[in-house]
Amino acid sequence: MSQKATNLRINAERLWETIMETAQIGATAKGGVRRLTLSDLDRRVRDWFVDACKKAGCSITVDDMGNIFARRAGKNPNLAPIAVGSHLDTQPSGGKFDGIIGVLSGLELLRTLNEAGIETEAPIEVIDWTNEEGSRFAPAMLASGVFAGKFSREYAYARADRDGKSFGEELERIGYRGEAPCGAHPLSAFFELHIEQGPILEAEGKVIGVVTDVQGMRWYEVTVEGEDCHAGTTPMPMRKDALLASARMITAINAVGRRHAPHAVTTVGLIEAQPNSRNVIPGKTFFTIDIRHPHDAVLATMEDEITRELEAIAAACGVSLALERVWNSPPVPFAKECVDAVREAARDLGLPSREIISGAGHDAAYVAAVAPTAMIFVPCERGISHNELEKAEPEHVAAGADVLLRAVLATDARLAEGVRA
Ligand SMILES: [Zn+2]
Repeated sequence: MSQKATNLRINAERLWETIMETAQIGATAKGGVRRLTLSDLDRRVRDWFVDACKKAGCSITVDDMGNIFARRAGKNPNLAPIAVGSHLDTQPSGGKFDGIIGVLSGLELLRTLNEAGIETEAPIEVIDWTNEEGSRFAPAMLASGVFAGKFSREYAYARADRDGKSFGEELERIGYRGEAPCGAHPLSAFFELHIEQGPILEAEGKVIGVVTDVQGMRWYEVTVEGEDCHAGTTPMPMRKDALLASARMITAINAVGRRHAPHAVTTVGLIEAQPNSRNVIPGKTFFTIDIRHPHDAVLATMEDEITRELEAIAAACGVSLALERVWNSPPVPFAKECVDAVREAARDLGLPSREIISGAGHDAAYVAAVAPTAMIFVPCERGISHNELEKAEPEHVAAGADVLLRAVLATDARLAEGVRA
């Protein structure tokens, strides 16, 4: 990297003002943002973003999933762009930072490069991915999923909201169904800056999370069947109590999570008991299991342990067990060269950092399937997110954007060296 690039910092005040300006589009009374995917407000923020990027000298491409690519040309048009970005849509009662800082720090990066008169070797792109949140059109990360070949375009277009409006119709209606086929767009690298949405960085006084992996997740559905019986006349040893068996199973599932500390988490978040009557021994239950860990092998072990222990509990309680895995989202390790670029950027800037595993899904997790990718986390107050009270400190957001800028410039220097070699 040149001396000029090494000393370069983003304009923290301008970045913060930009975040506060776009927060007006869909602002809620409690200080949050409600900007649902493909709504009129989504169109407004997209128009704002496209306009700001054009003013920064970018050319704009919109693909047929509505993903926006704002490109700042590089010296070498044969190199695939180095991309940064995230999402501008929010949860129904979302905050000002989730996704948004990843896109707007990209815009700030462009403005900083322009002011400094730095020409990169590769083009730089800032991306706004459509429908990351998935709250209006499930599933989440729909458009980055199509980009990475995880979903078909037809599947995406057919997703409907609760009023029966389809993703395809709404994309057309707001005028963001572009010409470019989604996915036919090589990237040299992709970096996503995001708030942590968890409490770890804040608790440890770290400013930068060097994200190494996105953890894997498996979902199960469990049905336990015993026998409905009179609560007053059935002696304790003769009962087939499905709810009691389920309670023991929940305890066992929790223990599996603790056994694989510190990274494992296991949750039973939903349970239904039948007939749900105070004087009937419950004959049937249905519950869900959510298990997560960064390594597939550990997830497989956890699955084995849960299966074995639930079967043993069912046998001991005289009930039947049906356990079905309904979803498997494998862990995503990020690209070493991109993770290194983030780690070194934080170190060179003297920012306290630590390695961290993303507990939540992000566009970067899909993009990682088709381009070398990494993420940068910055703290958010008490880890609260998907909430109008979501809060990040201006200096932390600025630090994250500086790391982003430096990681991009280091990647560009590496690509330039590759071209010369
Ligand atoms: Zn997000």
